Amino acid sequence: MTDCIFCKIIAGEIPSQKVYEDERVYAFRDIAPQAPQHILVVPKAHISSAADVTEENAGLVGACFAAITLIAKAQGLDSGFRVITNCGEDGGQTVYHLHFHILGGRPLGANLL
Ligand code: 5GP
Ligand code: ZN
Repeated sequence: MTDCIFCKIIAGEIPSQKVYEDERVYAFRDIAPQAPQHILVVPKAHISSAADVTEENAGLVGACFAAITLIAKAQGLDSGFRVITNCGEDGGQTVYHLHFHILGGRPLGANLL
């Protein structure tokens, strides 16, 4: 997707603070962190949102979650973290390339954020 900001980040056309990368997954620091650790985990293949996950591409979601486990360990999030994906207008999604927010580094409480 040529007009997708996260596709451009994955391609290196827009700079990012890379945290993790493998064949299928890229992870980088959020530009506007909501917690001491705020990392975005994205499939390299463009999927617009959680509403576009199918039997065919669901393996990429699994790859993202396997990466999340590795990232959380590498970043020392031993006391816990939160994973969020915003989906669609009501879900507050602003970038339409599927991404998982990892939030941590402080007690996040029982509420959403
Ligand atoms: P959403 O609101 O779609 O769930 O999350 C999009 C996230 O992407 C936001 O937390 C926002 O701060 C982050 N973001 C938007 N543009 C950029 C960018 O150019 N670089 C980085 N690193 N994060 C971005
Ligand atoms: Zn994209």
